Amino acid sequence: MVRAKRANRSKFFRVKCPDCENEQIIFEKASTVVDCVVCGRVLAEPTGGKISLKAEKIAELT
Ligand SMILES: [Zn+2]
Repeated sequence: MVRAKRANRSKFFRVKCPDCENEQIIFEKASTVVDCVVCGRVLAEPTGGKISLKAEKIAELT
């Protein structure tokens, strides 16, 4: 039996910083807080599994 492709591939999110509108790509399973590279605002926080987004998600990249 062929094992079906599991939908467990990690994703990247393209997000937009709500403060400076910088667009940035962040890893879905980042293990550290992700800051905006421009203004330093927190864009995502680790939750032990997937990150918790603190910024607007524009797109998902697989
Ligand atoms: Zn910013």
